[in-house]
Amino acid sequence: MTDGRNDSDDSGVNTGGSDRPDGRASVDDLTDEVDGDTSSISVGSDETTGDGPSLGGDDDGPSLDDVVLEETPSGENADEASRGLFDDLLSGAPIFENKEVLRPSYTPHKLPHREEQINNMATILVTALRGDTPSNILIYGKTGTGKTASAKFVSEELETTSQKYEVPCEVEYINCEVTDTQYRVLAQLANKFIEKNRGVIDDRLDEFEDLRERARENPSVLRESDLDVETVEELDAKIEQLRDDRDEFEEVPMTGWPTDRVYNTFFDAVDYHERVVVIMLDEIDKLVEKSGDDTLYNLSRMNSELEKSRVSIMGISNDLKFTDFLDPRVKSSLGEEEIVFPPYDANQLRDILQHRSEVAFEHDALSDDVIPLCAAFAAQEHGDARRALDLLRTAGELAERGQTERVEEDHVRRAQEKIELDRVVEVVRTLPTQSKLVLFSIILLEKNGVHNINTGEVYNIYKRLCEEIDADTLTQRRVTDLISELDMLGIVNAVVVSKGRYGRTKEISLSVPIEETEAVLLSDSRLGDIEDIQPFVQARFDN
Ligand code: ADP
Ligand code: MG
Repeated sequence: MTDGRNDSDDSGVNTGGSDRPDGRASVDDLTDEVDGDTSSISVGSDETTGDGPSLGGDDDGPSLDDVVLEETPSGENADEASRGLFDDLLSGAPIFENKEVLRPSYTPHKLPHREEQINNMATILVTALRGDTPSNILIYGKTGTGKTASAKFVSEELETTSQKYEVPCEVEYINCEVTDTQYRVLAQLANKFIEKNRGVIDDRLDEFEDLRERARENPSVLRESDLDVETVEELDAKIEQLRDDRDEFEEVPMTGWPTDRVYNTFFDAVDYHERVVVIMLDEIDKLVEKSGDDTLYNLSRMNSELEKSRVSIMGISNDLKFTDFLDPRVKSSLGEEEIVFPPYDANQLRDILQHRSEVAFEHDALSDDVIPLCAAFAAQEHGDARRALDLLRTAGELAERGQTERVEEDHVRRAQEKIELDRVVEVVRTLPTQSKLVLFSIILLEKNGVHNINTGEVYNIYKRLCEEIDADTLTQRRVTDLISELDMLGIVNAVVVSKGRYGRTKEISLSVPIEETEAVLLSDSRLGDIEDIQPFVQARFDN
């Protein structure tokens, strides 16, 4: 994973003269550059560099952090001309014009090949602009099929149109992957509406107080105003009432209240004045998986009790079968309308990439094969537009770091490898501790030259690791299950082989890069505590 670039002795790294002519080379880019390798795929993604484990060849040379700490000139040449670290990086022709456009956080204004779905949503939701309650909608589709982007697009349109025609219609978006319990969903909604209500109250208070000011000088303004008050006393009473209303809204704390109190607070906040509210629950399958369908049940029966307002739910799910787990009443209420987002094919992905790349890249920065290849790779990944955009962005970054003039086919292939490795790193990082211990045992065996590992061998090492870090030791049966799970995740390969009259056994081997995987495991604070791992393997051979 390393080449000469990591050798600090002659790298000429100097942080003293980092005058950047423009903002093109970000610190992130540079960290990756020095940390990793320009000629092969570096492991850390932009996002993980810095706070995650440093995966790029720690043993072979100091990371940028070390270099910076050790070699920062202490005063004497701090303002000397730079030694060219940044100059080198800036010298090539720029590849990106606006990289942000390729990031998942960017909401495009145009969504090719989603016209039909967007029109369907709009046809259902237009009811809200007429002051009626739209049917609930359930949206299905695999990841990267444009569900979130389309839903956000439609909700922005809905809100701007409602402002244009002054109809009270509001959209609340919640990502249930982040907000994943009933308490949190209701609390977030309650607090949003409380905030909105306060805004409404403040505006009215301003209006009323202004009127009172003018009424002091000339009481006849009261009758001329359209605020429906006759006397200053009446006006004072209204102002008093508004202040009380304002104080009555108590924000829901992040934890601690009984759920029905949270629900009631939300209910009262929504019903404070007339309006139609569309609640978008993105990644709704995650919410149901984690916390059941109570939230959906409660939300879907609200309308029968609300007096002034109406609520409509738009659920978005990556999992096509998630309604199987719902209470039948919730299922039928939520699925009044269903819209499916099919995967994109390679041609559609090409169009999408083409549109974005025109803004994202400098003119002529992409060679002809780049977009078709990104589209083809992503089409294999169940037509995932997110993957296609990631590939294109990563390929561009690799070209930028390699200081080539254009993005070539090879950059896309390397980007594909890098993304695949990032995925593995992420999967390993989020494994439960027990699975990490099992995986670590397999790695220790492989590192010590044991191949075609069997379950018993894994279990021996595993037990010792558990003792070392004071973890519960599972039975061999459970460990066998965990190995099967690792197999399904594509991290290990476990094949059952027949041993003749000794019965059958599993032969296990690692199917991910060993160094990177080990580094991720050791970045776990519990596993990181394992001090000297060698003796454990040795002990196994002594047994
Ligand atoms: P989902 O929510 O279905 O997982 P997203 O809406 O988050 O997918 O889309 C993934 C990425 O692909 C986002 O960056 C989004 O902007 C982009 N994208 C998806 N569909 C389109 C499209 N039709 N046109 C342009 N960009 C798209
Ligand atoms: Mg989404």
